[in-house]
Amino acid sequence: MMQQYLRLKKDYPDTLLFYRMGDFYEMFYGDAEKAAQLLDITLTTRGQSAGQPIPMAGVPFHSVESYLARLIRLGEAVAICEQVGEAGAAGAGKGPVERKVVRVVTPGTLTDSTLMAEKSESMLLAVHFGPRQQCGLAWLAVTQGQLNLAECAADDLPAWLARIAPSEVLVSASLTAAQQQRLEAALQTALQTAQPAAPVTRRPEWQFDAALGAARLQEQLQAASLAAWGAQGCALAHAASAALLAYAEHTQGHALTHVRSLQVARAGDLIDLPAATRRNLELVQTLRGEDAPTLFSLLDTCQTGMGSRLLKTWLLAPQRDRAAASGRHAAIAALLAPQGDAAPLWQRLRALLKGTGDVERVTARIALAQVRPRELAALRQALQKSELPALVAQAQAALLAQLAQDLAPPAECLQALQSAIAQEPAALVRDGGVIAPGHDAMLDELRAIASNCDAFLLEMETRERQRTGIANLRVQFNKVHGFYIEVTQGQAAKVPADYRRRQTLKNAERFITPELKAFEDRALSAQERALAREKWLFDELLRRLQPHIPALTRFARALAALDALAALAERAHTLEWRKPEFTREPGIDITAGRHPVVQARLQESGQGAFIANSTHLGPRQRLQIITGPNMGGKSTYMRQVALITLLASMGSYVPAESCRLGPVDAIHTRIGAADDLANAQSTFMLEMTEAAQILRSATPQSLVLMDEIGRGTSTYDGLSLATAIAAWLHDKAQCLTLFATHYFELTELPAACHAAINVHVSAAETGEGGSIAFLHEIQPGPASRSYGIQVARLAGVPAAVVNHARHVLARLETAAASQQAQPDLFAPLPEPEPAPAAEPAPPSELQAALAALDPDELSPRQALQALYQLKKLA
Ligand code: ADP
Repeated sequence: MMQQYLRLKKDYPDTLLFYRMGDFYEMFYGDAEKAAQLLDITLTTRGQSAGQPIPMAGVPFHSVESYLARLIRLGEAVAICEQVGEAGAAGAGKGPVERKVVRVVTPGTLTDSTLMAEKSESMLLAVHFGPRQQCGLAWLAVTQGQLNLAECAADDLPAWLARIAPSEVLVSASLTAAQQQRLEAALQTALQTAQPAAPVTRRPEWQFDAALGAARLQEQLQAASLAAWGAQGCALAHAASAALLAYAEHTQGHALTHVRSLQVARAGDLIDLPAATRRNLELVQTLRGEDAPTLFSLLDTCQTGMGSRLLKTWLLAPQRDRAAASGRHAAIAALLAPQGDAAPLWQRLRALLKGTGDVERVTARIALAQVRPRELAALRQALQKSELPALVAQAQAALLAQLAQDLAPPAECLQALQSAIAQEPAALVRDGGVIAPGHDAMLDELRAIASNCDAFLLEMETRERQRTGIANLRVQFNKVHGFYIEVTQGQAAKVPADYRRRQTLKNAERFITPELKAFEDRALSAQERALAREKWLFDELLRRLQPHIPALTRFARALAALDALAALAERAHTLEWRKPEFTREPGIDITAGRHPVVQARLQESGQGAFIANSTHLGPRQRLQIITGPNMGGKSTYMRQVALITLLASMGSYVPAESCRLGPVDAIHTRIGAADDLANAQSTFMLEMTEAAQILRSATPQSLVLMDEIGRGTSTYDGLSLATAIAAWLHDKAQCLTLFATHYFELTELPAACHAAINVHVSAAETGEGGSIAFLHEIQPGPASRSYGIQVARLAGVPAAVVNHARHVLARLETAAASQQAQPDLFAPLPEPEPAPAAEPAPPSELQAALAALDPDELSPRQALQALYQLKKLA
């Protein structure tokens, strides 16, 4: 056995090998030690080799999924080695049962729904580094039917990695250590998320071969040329796809017959959403790395996992060409249209879609011969929803008409499933009870023998009681001892001569007779044969389904698209969003726009209404300098413009009264995250790196958000940089810019730059004490004053300090007005001075609360809550 193990292990030196032994998967030697540590399971030994005990660790087969899930999360790969030979054959003493690695489970090639996130894909990416700093990329999710190719400059790799978000990256074994390091660094930047960056797997160099790749792609797509996909001539990407396909098949132990389409991605096709933008706008993850509340969590009311996944792709990969988005807008309009007395289509569709299984993943698993009986039952249920295509066909929209066609289920496929799969099949084929009664005569017969057992046992019991005169004699069966006749000890002397003792218990004896033995053989073999027959019939069903894989893939995609559209319609209805309009001329025109996530939060927490704001940006008014107090709503306003732009571009309705949107090629953001404070020394460098990228790439069709640029350095440095950056964005890049700043000096910019204007978030002074209320309203012109001192007062800064600050401010302003040099900030304060109290007054409730706060310990959210609390005390 050990020889067999070592032979198998030789082919998987860097992968944990789970070696099947009966009801366990066992690991040996180094694997055992590693697994014991990673999984926190017991490390023991089994047998010896050269006088040394062999380290061993094992996990039970029935809970293997949870162990796999943990290993995959840690970035490990696992080769699953099963017994493939007949178990009986080994009994003859001719060595161990035949075993084979049937699949390799790796982070980028997951197919098992129990191991996968329901709402995100597990992407496998191959990167081929070619000459002249160019890279070829090929990627796919094994559970999807589509291959993707791209070529890019090595410098652009981080942007692509951010877009693809791979779970595992394949590179050539010939990659230098320095190159690999660069790649890993790029991955870290790209996947700035809570989870660890994707593992990098090295594959043999010869697999990264362009000619081989082109041939494999043609074979995969069953086409004589790649021209139909516009995929000829990208040799670097071909080389990457050769390695990608080889690895995907190697891990599945099976050809990927469901992968039949190809897409060549070009950077210029998509609206550029750099990693910083995804993060700052909290598209799919909050700044703290949580899944909610984000734009996606607000948007995603899909009824199925595949709908959610598609919606996420729409959100993260919006096209510059607006045809697809317009098609979705029209479809949403059709779904929302009133239907006389009946409920609108989106409602009826969502009711129908509810509870639909993950047809996309089930289809891939049929193709890979990994599907489980219950997944087929779920597919059958989805295919039975025959009202769906008819309902969709009623809608007046081209996109929906197309979907209705793809939703027509392949009839043969449904018939095959209805006939073959039991109403409620067992979880595993090896448990039996998977094939429906009436589907196969031979199976029915074998099952009849097995289930006639009970009748036979009763009949024999009556007969034997009569024959022996033992009234409490019982004929029974259990899994361990098989069939037996049980007689209590007191009656044991009465048994006839043909009874043979099988087992002695404390109070009873168990016997077997030749008749019972013969029955047992027949029943057990019938059961075994029924199981074998079921397995065969199940495999046969899978073979029959294979030709329908392309139709099932189309069906799955149509379901997903319908689900995503119905969810967008539901959101539009519930949140009162409106249909945006695309225009040819560049610009963004929003009437009464809202930040959907902030609005939802205010609504939930009952903190009052969200104040809608309008925005006009165009070639002649392309830069807004936004001033106003902290907490006044500047960030919220800027982000809402970006979110509305993105929502419109992905094909959704938008949170605004109306929205007219010109062409957009990128959304850039430079926003200092509150969390940046944690690693202060790198913050300014990061700020400038991000700014540099924006200055280099922004075009007149880009939307740029700049929040408090220059904050990370000294005042004069910061102010100078902010001024120069704003001027560049206005004069050179000519992009559409929202520029929030606390440098009041920047409000002079519009005087020099004709297409810049000042706006401010309004605040009103309330009461006598000089405190302020935020109105969150965007108004033309610069803010009248910085309000910083009022905010400090609001926050409970002692009155003496606030007063002192007022005086210093007054001095600075006077000095600036009369163009004096910097005044002496530390000159004594003029009389009357707030006389220091003779006796220090006991701290007020407010002061006590303030003293109890430790700003370094607070999250931004807690800080905000603290501020509210302090305000209550004031
Ligand atoms: P700033 O960037 O000016 O410091 P924020 O945009 O972070 O301010 O806004 C601070 C808080 O004010 C938000 O968390 C939100 O609760 C509230 N807020 C902002 N804009 C609005 C608005 N338009 N309507 C209602 N509340 C708002």
